[in-house]
Order: sequence, then C-alpha cells, then structure tokens
Amino acid sequence: MKIYHCGNCNYPVYFENVVCSNCGFWLGYDSQQDQMVALSPGRSSWQPYGDTTTLTFIYCGNHTHQACNWLIPQDDATGLCVACDLNRTVPNLSDAVQLREWQELEAAKHRLVYALLRLGLPVQDKMTYPEHGLAFDFLADQPGADRVMTGHDEGLITLNVEEADSAQREANRLQLHEKYRTLVGHFRHEVGHYYWDELVASHPTLLADFRQLFGDERADYGQALQKHYKEGAPADWESRFISTYATSHPWEDWAETWAHYLHLLDLLESAYAFGLQVDPPGMPELTMQARADFDPYADRNMDRILSTAVPITFAVNSINRGMGRPDLYPFVLNGPVREKLSFINRVVSSAPALLAS
Ligand SMILES: [Zn+2]
Ligand SMILES: [Zn+2]
Ligand SMILES: [Zn+2]
Repeated sequence: MKIYHCGNCNYPVYFENVVCSNCGFWLGYDSQQDQMVALSPGRSSWQPYGDTTTLTFIYCGNHTHQACNWLIPQDDATGLCVACDLNRTVPNLSDAVQLREWQELEAAKHRLVYALLRLGLPVQDKMTYPEHGLAFDFLADQPGADRVMTGHDEGLITLNVEEADSAQREANRLQLHEKYRTLVGHFRHEVGHYYWDELVASHPTLLADFRQLFGDERADYGQALQKHYKEGAPADWESRFISTYATSHPWEDWAETWAHYLHLLDLLESAYAFGLQVDPPGMPELTMQARADFDPYADRNMDRILSTAVPITFAVNSINRGMGRPDLYPFVLNGPVREKLSFINRVVSSAPALLAS
C-alpha cells in the first residue's frame, strides 16, 4: 500500500492510524479522495480541503468499536463507510475475544476494499443490491451447532472469526499443509469467487478463455474437493498451479490466483511508495535487477509487474530469513500461473466495460 501522511503535519502514518504520533491530531481515511485527513482533538466532524460549503465528515459508526477509521458524510444514510456497509453479520461485540477477533478481520477487510476501489471494481453491498452485491457474515462457532465454514456463496462471504486467532490460524495452516495463511489472504481469495460470478460467468468469450487456462468449472465441485482432501495435489502441481488448493477445482484455481494478483499489486505498490530497487552486485543477469518505479494500480502491465515483483520478493524473503521469519512470499510463479495472472489482469481491466454491457 502507499504511504499516507497526516493531513495536519504531513508526518507519515499507517492506513490504520487514528491518531498522528507526531502532532496528536485525530486521523480519518477519506476513501473518495484516498487520503488521510486530520481533525484537531476535541472536535467531532471534519470539513476538509478548506471547503466549508460542502460535506462535513464524521467517523464511520464502527469507529466506536475501534474497527474502522474511515470517514463518511455527516448525513450518510447507514452511518457506516463503504467497507463497513458490506457487513451483514458481525460477531457478539460484548464478548471481548470476539470483539478483538473482529477488529483484526476488519483491518484486513479494509485493505481489501482499498484495493478493489483502486482497481475500479464495483463495491456494492448486498443488502442494497441483493442480486449483484457483496456481503460479509463474520460468525463464531456456537455450542452444539455445525462449525462455521469459511467460503463464498452468491456474493455472501462467510468467515469464522476464530481465524483471527493467530494460534488457531497457524494450527489450521499446518493441518492443511499450507505455505501461507493470513486474514488478508482469506479476503482476497473469497472475493475472487464473487468477481468470477460477476465478471466471467456471464461473458461467453471470457468464459471460454477461462476454461482454456483454468479448466472446465462444470466439473462436480463437491466431488472435486472430496478428492482433493483425500488424495492431495498431483505430483507436478508446482509447474502449473500457485498452490496445492488451486489444483482442487477450476474455481479454486481462479480464486487462489486472483488472491495472488492482489498480493502482487499490494506488494509492488508498497515497493513503489518506498522507491525500492534491487541490484545485487556481482549478479549481472538482468533477471535479478528490478526497480519499483511505477504505480501498479495505475500502470497494470502484468509482465512488468511480474518482472519487478519477483526479484523484490527474493530480496525481502532473504531479509525475513535473517530475522527467522517465514518468507514474505513463499511461492513460485511458473509459466502457466503467469498466464493465468495476465488473464485476471485482463478481466479486471475490462470490468467497467463488462458491467456496462
Ligand atoms: Zn500530524
Ligand atoms: Zn467503516
Ligand atoms: Zn475458494
């Protein structure tokens, strides 16, 4: 993600900050202008940009739960921001554990919504747009009831809040033999299913191209998953897929690859914001040189994104290993995966035209 600055003193701040650590002003994120605006302590509404005649902003209603720092117009109909409008169900907020878990989920979800807005993808809540909208159910397991399964169904994304417990998430990761398991990864994967429905399913030419690259999604989904959990991935999966789970069914291949598309854009936007470049001395091969000198959301050339991201991830993986941390990006981007990523990039870039047609 890019580097934000306090609207009062220009000090660099994180996307999640609610207070500037330099000047003490309160901070709120304006998703329309994509900037962090500041409010002098003691006041409760904003009139940014020196304009006193138009909108007055207040915090999104979920600010009171420390789950959101986005701003909304004072007369907003729902009292919630565009990211929080997507919530259909939140967990029991009087339970301190569930509240903390939900706050973690919201932080990841807000980063997802940021990326969707940057990509110009439609972000509409399912409560207002039942047919084509998106919604989230954040649910906790209840005694005596079936376990809450994470997944997507016709625009409704369900997440088990226990996934926000890092010990539980690591246990799940080990049990499923995954290289990587994060909250932001869950959001990026599940929303991929939603945009497949919205952008690919009803466009015959894209659907035909999809089947060429990912396979025929009409294969029985339930049987495919059963087979995957029983037999595991094919031995040569690393030469064709981004993950073992991607091998289970074309829909999961799409969602896994879609998540990586969003991972790579975010990673590269951060690299661009900090002016990163790698140029290891004594390695004249051009493949190890990269300069993140473009905004990947604005300049979405997949070849350039890949040739820049790969050397940078290799460098950051090495730094992480030095600190005893897991690799930042523990994946190999083989030829077929690169083709799939390029296709996703094409679908995203044509989304405005697809949705208008
Ligand atoms: Zn400040
Ligand atoms: Zn909000
Ligand atoms: Zn999935």
